[in-house]
Amino acid sequence: MPGTAHTTVVVDGLALADEIRKELAEQVEHHRAAGQPAPCLAVVLVGDDPASKSYISGKRRACARVGMESVQHDLPAQASRAQVLDVVSRCNADPAVDGILVQLPLPKGLDPHDITGAIDPAKDVDGLTPHSAGRLLLGLPSLLPCTPAGIMKILERYGVDCAGARAVVIGRSNIVGKPIALLLQRANSTVTMCHSRTRELRELCREADILVSAVGVPRLVRGDWVKPGAAVIDVGVSQVDGVLTGDVDTEGVQGIARIVTPHRRGVGPMTITMLLQNTLRAYEARRGA
Ligand code: NAP
Repeated sequence: MPGTAHTTVVVDGLALADEIRKELAEQVEHHRAAGQPAPCLAVVLVGDDPASKSYISGKRRACARVGMESVQHDLPAQASRAQVLDVVSRCNADPAVDGILVQLPLPKGLDPHDITGAIDPAKDVDGLTPHSAGRLLLGLPSLLPCTPAGIMKILERYGVDCAGARAVVIGRSNIVGKPIALLLQRANSTVTMCHSRTRELRELCREADILVSAVGVPRLVRGDWVKPGAAVIDVGVSQVDGVLTGDVDTEGVQGIARIVTPHRRGVGPMTITMLLQNTLRAYEARRGA
């Protein structure tokens, strides 16, 4: 009810991720015990961006912890389109590889759509190829982009009923905004998508039962943007004076939101977990397991 104080639950994305990773590890172990190889993720890194390197090592560590294999293909920042496509094509053809991830952003001069579009849809564990995006749009089963899949899992595990809810998504990127809007709509929410040209953003947000912010503007979403009892999902990651900050003023929404994801230990660990889940799904689908 408007004006009612709520006890805000801060989502523990790390605990939820650990729980799901345990389940994934058991499934991997089950395949291994039946004499099958471990699922294998191939990661392609072009250039030496430190943030990309650190994301990749986090993903590979996560693979190892659930018993999955991973291989890394490093290319120099000056690599040509043909060289990168050749690596992708070799991963596509390699029967030992179940999932392929091209770390974004790519260096200038390489078109991310061109490169990720070359990934075999059966191995598209980031869910970013036109094939996967098209199937998501059509409501057909597909490998889902990891961050949106993780958000849906958080909503499910924290008992947020999407059916009939007003959902507002801030951000319209291919990687987060568009797919989460489609997934919420698939779950029967009534979805409004907002972006940098949206007028009266605060007023729209105040109507949301579910508010997802995927922008990258520190503390854009304040307490007075949030409807009492709303579920607030903070996807944004930005740096303020060297400190990681989210899109949501987490303290400001205390006592207003029903749940909020913190910018650390929130959506991030679930994104990696969904990558592992997609790799296992791709493995099982390819091997008929
Ligand atoms: P993106 O491609 O840069 O998209 C940002 C979106 O925000 C755009 O649609 C943009 O609108 C909109 N926007 C920018 N300023 C705005 C404003 N003042 N008001 C309303 N909308 C505004 O970003 P992304 O890849 O979706 O990522 C978004 C954020 O999430 C980033 O901080 C990123 O680091 C973070 N992220 C986190 C995870 C995770 O696992 N935690 C995963 C992915 C991304 P226009 O379309 O009009 O330009």
